[in-house]
Amino acid sequence: MFAEVSFPISSYQTFSYKVPEHLTSQITVGIRVKVPLGNRKVNGIVVGISNSSSFKGKIREIHDLIDDQQVLNDNLWSLIKWLSKYYNSPLGLAAKAVLPSNLSTKYKPKVEVLVKALAVKDFNDSLGRAQKTVYDHLKSFDDSLPVKALSDFCSNPKDICNKLAEKGLVSLLDRPIIPDLSEFAFNTKNKKIVLTQEQNVALDKMVSCMDENKFNPILLHGVTGSGKTEIYIEAARHAIKINKTVIMLLPEISLTPQIAGRFRSAFGNDVALWHSKLSQGARAWTWKEICGGKFKVVIGARSAIFAPLKNVGLIVVDEEQESSYKQESPNPRYHARDVALMRGKLDNASVVLASATPSMESYYNYLNGKYEYIHLKERFGSAKYPKVHVVDMIKESEETELYGNIFSRLLLEKIEDRLSKKEQVILFHNRRGFAPILRCEDCGEITMCPHCNIALTYHKSGKYLQCHFCNHTKKSIPSKCSSCQSYNLNLSGTGTQKVEDELSNKFPDSIVKRLDADSVRSGINLTKTLQEFYDKKIDILIGTQMIAKGLDFANTTLVGIINGDTGLFLPDFRSGEKVFQLIYQAAGRSGRGEIPGEVVIQTYSPENPVIKCATELNVEKYYNICLEERKALLYPPFSWLVKVEIRGKNITELEKSINNIKNRMIDPPKGISILGPALCYREKLRDYYRMQLILKSNKELDINGTTLHKYYKSIMSKQFDSEVTSKQRLIIDINPVSLL
Ligand code: ADP
Ligand code: ZN
Ligand code: ZN
Repeated sequence: MFAEVSFPISSYQTFSYKVPEHLTSQITVGIRVKVPLGNRKVNGIVVGISNSSSFKGKIREIHDLIDDQQVLNDNLWSLIKWLSKYYNSPLGLAAKAVLPSNLSTKYKPKVEVLVKALAVKDFNDSLGRAQKTVYDHLKSFDDSLPVKALSDFCSNPKDICNKLAEKGLVSLLDRPIIPDLSEFAFNTKNKKIVLTQEQNVALDKMVSCMDENKFNPILLHGVTGSGKTEIYIEAARHAIKINKTVIMLLPEISLTPQIAGRFRSAFGNDVALWHSKLSQGARAWTWKEICGGKFKVVIGARSAIFAPLKNVGLIVVDEEQESSYKQESPNPRYHARDVALMRGKLDNASVVLASATPSMESYYNYLNGKYEYIHLKERFGSAKYPKVHVVDMIKESEETELYGNIFSRLLLEKIEDRLSKKEQVILFHNRRGFAPILRCEDCGEITMCPHCNIALTYHKSGKYLQCHFCNHTKKSIPSKCSSCQSYNLNLSGTGTQKVEDELSNKFPDSIVKRLDADSVRSGINLTKTLQEFYDKKIDILIGTQMIAKGLDFANTTLVGIINGDTGLFLPDFRSGEKVFQLIYQAAGRSGRGEIPGEVVIQTYSPENPVIKCATELNVEKYYNICLEERKALLYPPFSWLVKVEIRGKNITELEKSINNIKNRMIDPPKGISILGPALCYREKLRDYYRMQLILKSNKELDINGTTLHKYYKSIMSKQFDSEVTSKQRLIIDINPVSLL
């Protein structure tokens, strides 16, 4: 018997291996194996089995299996094949996304040794002093103790316990050390939940799909605070009741502690968490236990969509508009929302795409009848929508004659007012660090990252400059301009650290905390800060997009948006949509409890339609404007896109390669247009220049994107790889979320 094996490499080639006698009964398609390749042993996945092999050379043997139980079922295997085909990714790579190579069901957690005294009558043998002390101590307990815990009684508890065991006085037992799963879930107060009629209508839709084993995608469009999370919890309860499992995707690590807390208080240890801050041990253990069927619910980031759960009945994609659901690198560059839909289709699950600000794609799909649509228009209970104040920062500067001020008078006044009532404030600013740029006041030169074409950000805590793309760090701040040698350098712009600094000066008696990628390197810090804010031990929470969505704090009655315009002018067709969603979501953190809330939005462009609609909290109006624009320019959701990008250090060679590729794209079918080649907006990252070509296909002529797919494949088959030199990288992105 022979097996075809695919490896997690960027080649589509597969390799033949002999299946040794003792493994023949266990080898099936979709099983992971360890095999020799060159002079290494590597992991691969079996993609085919046959009785003969056409390969003429020497065929080597499979060495071993990676897992000791079946991980993939037919549906997950189909999902891998779909990923590979749809995202143009070799099977081995697609398989690796689903079955990460450092995880295996053979994982054994570390163990600790427990010791327990045995009841022994008439024991005559004499014991040494240390043995006697330990034995007497153990006898006073009914239960077993970790051997390590005896170090107060003797210097070598392990030896002593072994000796006592030899004499038959104690028993020793290995206990696996299970990771502490409560670490990322904070305690939420239990309250009585009786779903409203509106919520029940939504729930019934999900429940009936599950009962009928029917795939039925639902767009749950519920305003912030409408009680979407309570609906997921009830839907999950039903799934578990009928023996199905649940995947709940969250776009941002900062949402995990609260949502996980709410789910854990409903389902206890049936809930697994899956995100980037898990330790390697916790990750390995969690995965193994998911395979073994211990968990009913997996809550996590985008890769949780691949959780090897069996019989998935419900998949929720919370904040489905978030771009973090898209994997930019490595290949497969999948979008977890699309994978969720495909997995739901294969598993006949109920798939809920939920948001207060749906993506244009999902909204458009609803308009076209592709999704069931549920609209929750009101906040739960007595909570009302917050009152929004817009501050024109240009006018503010003119009136106060203070330029570059972080806080307007109105915002300060409102903060003061809320603090005096013992209510809490969230300030949102989507720039981390202290000051985004170091600029020469004489010649205008900005200190850039030497590897990327991007300004370095000043971090005050460690007094260093850092690139937010490649993390390049400059320990000493230059004292003079590299271009004109002037000493007149100035830090300009505002990051969250500066907001925190100024705020602490202005409100010295208040407790101010910051949540951004710099302050929460560890998950524990994150959970702690969020729990403290929930317990009202923090007055003002400052943060980046991390705190803009999903969080539910009833006592927060004021949200301040320091600069509503951040990101508005980036040359990407999605920048308006993103800014709108962020402002709307951030505003949604205010007034979620009984006390009515307010929002202060500071902007330099109050007349900009994006800002205007956002400040009116008018989703429909903005979405209509946005869809009109997209339609006129034929951008998604009115077209399908493929981005062909090449990276290289030598810009002349790069231009040559990309032009050669462009020259292959002759006579595209009707409806397909080709944009570029052009330098990307972020033209140099990590020492590599970037150029791109965009293929765009009109949906009216290409409803499912198959024409674009075929066209693109046909060029692929002419190997446009061959145009790319070994020093360059070719990146193909299907449905890219960003063209920057
Ligand atoms: P969303 O996820 O839509 O932003 P949440 O589920 O966080 O909204 O609900 C907002 C608040 O209202 C939460 O504190 C939640 O517990 C509460 N809530 C929602 N529905 C109910 C209900 N039926 N009974 C009691 N409390 C509810
Ligand atoms: Zn200068
Ligand atoms: Zn850099």
